[in-house]
Order: sequence, then structure tokens, then C-alpha cells
Amino acid sequence: MALIVQKYGGTSVADAECIRKVARRVVDTHEAGNQVVVCVSAMAGETNALVDLARELGGARPPAREYDVLVSTGEQKTIALLAMAIQGLGHKARSFTGAQMAMRTDGSHTRARIESIDSERLLRVLADGAIAVIAGFQGVDADGNITTLGRGGSDTSAVAVACALGADRCEIYTDVDGVHTADPNLVDGARKLDHVSYNEMLEMASLGAKVLQIRAVKIAMRYGLPIHVRSTFGSDEGTWVVREEDVMERLVVSGVTYNRDEAKIRVKGVKDEPGVAGQIFTPLAASGIVVDMIVQNLSSDGTTDVTFTVPRGDYARALEIAEKEVPRTGATTVEGDEHIAKVSIVGLGMQDHAGVATRMFGVLASESINIQMITTSEIKISVVIEEKYTELAVRALHAAFIEDGAAEPTAE
Ligand code: ADP
Ligand code: ASP
Ligand code: MG
Repeated sequence: MALIVQKYGGTSVADAECIRKVARRVVDTHEAGNQVVVCVSAMAGETNALVDLARELGGARPPAREYDVLVSTGEQKTIALLAMAIQGLGHKARSFTGAQMAMRTDGSHTRARIESIDSERLLRVLADGAIAVIAGFQGVDADGNITTLGRGGSDTSAVAVACALGADRCEIYTDVDGVHTADPNLVDGARKLDHVSYNEMLEMASLGAKVLQIRAVKIAMRYGLPIHVRSTFGSDEGTWVVREEDVMERLVVSGVTYNRDEAKIRVKGVKDEPGVAGQIFTPLAASGIVVDMIVQNLSSDGTTDVTFTVPRGDYARALEIAEKEVPRTGATTVEGDEHIAKVSIVGLGMQDHAGVATRMFGVLASESINIQMITTSEIKISVVIEEKYTELAVRALHAAFIEDGAAEPTAE
């Protein structure tokens, strides 16, 4: 008998009929002799609708505590409905909100981090032969306030519960049949990967592949929990996210990703002397703004340009802060650009192959796409380009590195 945590995303529980199908699937897994915990998201579109309402009444930055009370309600509906549907099939089921299962988080509303889970309570339900249906995305802080884990957070809830319970695996059911070499909704030729390593998946998730929330991958990696990403609408094997040594093929490039959610700020003519970078980035960090890429030009006349990217939602605030620092850093101007995209290639095999970056730049040049910023790590290369070229860049890189066979496994 295995203990399996299954997570169903918004499209999987979009309406009553979908919920009935999910119930059938859960019950089949239970009847096969497994203990099952099911984690669900809100119905497709529900969280977006709640966010829109919050903005309508609470402004661009609604009060965070009330925002969490509101947006967490989507999951409270689906747990109750799924538990009813499972009971309708003659099985015991019990729903749990974040507070009811003591999913304790810190108090950072809208992006809370999980601290502990009352696994005893869930284990007792399982031992009683019931199926536990838990709300994704939500938790409770030490003062009893409802918190949420950030968009896409149900993946993290499911993985965290799976780790806390010592589950054998976590199955993530979604609207695609696994993790693909690129977003299948953007690139026709994208193909499903049978296996992907935690590190590759971590890079892909942080670089824009929203099929899994980054923190879910981080937690699974820490605990060595296998994740199986698969389709709700079929029964084929999906993608296993596993340890590097369990990945059969070591592809040069296993994924091409994009992220349109960043903006770029350039501080021009800052003094080229120790401490200046700190003067720019410390106030940003103090305001909770997470800076992603940073590029500093070589100094020729004793001054230098510092360019960085921030989440688009923080752009206006970041620009204001950078402008305020101008007198202290001796900068001449601050410029911003919201119309950028970050396009990346990710692959374990890059470590064994020279010339991948050169080839990437060549592909973009042949499409006349100008590169504005570059960052690299052992297993990824990211570039910032003009937003309007996002699709062209992703498709061209996918064609060059994956469809044309450059993603052949490297010799071990
Ligand atoms: P859910 O609601 O089930 O959590 P999400 O919308 O969060 O589903 O994630 C699934 C979506 O992720 C897919 O519909 C797809 O458009 C997108 N996606 C982006 N990149 C990838 C990728 N490399 N492989 C698979 N899906 C991807
Ligand atoms: N319902 C939440 C969202 O839409 C959490 C999730 O689906 O993972 O972001
Ligand atoms: Mg998701």
C-alpha cells in the first residue's frame, strides 16, 4: 500500500462534471489499495475573478490580510464539493481548510512560507480508511490569520503535505500531459519530457514555466520526493521530476522558457566606486522588491551604468526608489522599460558542451532579435529581449536546440 498525494489544478475542477471525474479518479486510486490525500485548487478562473474584485474595491494594492481572506475562498468551495462527490461514490472523505489541517505559515500575506503541518491529524483520517481532501494555496499564521502562498501555490501545498506525511509520491494533475520542452500552448513542436531533474525543473519554473510553482520543486528536491506531472484527462504517464541520477537522458537543452513578467531599470552614470551598488539595491530590498538580473557596464570615464530587472508589478515603485537614490550615487539618469521579456534555455547537458551560448546568440541574431542583457549559470542561459519578439525567439530557439536534434543526449 502506498501513500499518494494527488493535486488537481483549476481546469481539473472547473465545474461539477470535472469534479465528478476527479472524484472517480481519486476513488480508483483508493480502491487500488492506496491511502490518498487530494489537494485541490479553486475552479478555473475563480482566483483571477477574486483578485479582480479585490482590486476593484481595495485599489491596486488591496490590504493584504483581507486579500488573503478573500482569495482563499476559491479552494474552500472545491474541497467541500470534491468531498461530497467522493462520498457520493460510497467512500469516506473529509475536507480540510488550511487552518483545519494546521498548515502553519509565517505572516507574509500573499506570499506566505510554510512552517509546519499537523500531519498527525491527516494520518488519523487516512488510518480510518478515509480520503483527506485538502485546500491548496492557503495556510494560517501563528495569530490565526488566513494566509496564501502566492499564485500557483497549490502545487506547494501538495508537495509540502506529501513530504510531511512521508508520501511515496506526489501526482500533479493538470491540463497538459507533462512538462514539455517549451510551453505547449506557444510552441507546436514542444514535446513531453519523460524525466526531468529537480535542478532543471527549478530553473524552468523560475524562468517562466508555470506548470509547477518554484517552491514546490524546492521542497520536493530537499526531501527527494518524486513528483509525477500528468494530465487529468488521460491515463498516460506524464513527466517524473526526480534526482539527477534517475534522469535517463542528459539533454543539452531540455527546455526553452519565457517570462514576460519583468521590467528593466537602468541607472546611468553612477560613480564607479565601492558601495554604490549597495546604495541602489539596499532600499529596493528594504521595500521587499526582489531584483532578478543585474548587469554593470565597464567604466571608461569613472562612471558606470547599472541595469537590473524587477517583477513588473513592482516596476513603478522600483523606478521611484531608483530615482530617489540618484543624488547619492551621482547618477545622471534613470530609465525604465516595461516591454521586455526574458527568454532562457535550460539543460543539464550544457555543462558538458561548449558553444551553446554562442549558438543561442547566433539563432537570435539570425532572427534580427537584439539582446539587451545576458545571464548564465551552469545549466541555463537567459537573455532579455524586446517583448514583441518573445514568441519568435522561443520558437526559433526551440527549433534550433530541440527540433533540429541538438538536444541529443550527451555521451556519459
Ligand atoms: P494548473 O491550473 O493545473 O495548476 P497551470 O496553468 O498552473 O495549471 O500550469 C499548466 C500550464 O503551464 C499549461 O497549460 C501550460 O500552458 C503552462 N506551461 C508553461 N510552460 C510549460 C512547460 N514547459 N511544460 C508544460 N506546461 C507548461
Ligand atoms: N488558486 C490559486 C491560483 O490560481 C492557487 C493554484 O491554483 O495553485 O493561483
Ligand atoms: Mg498551477
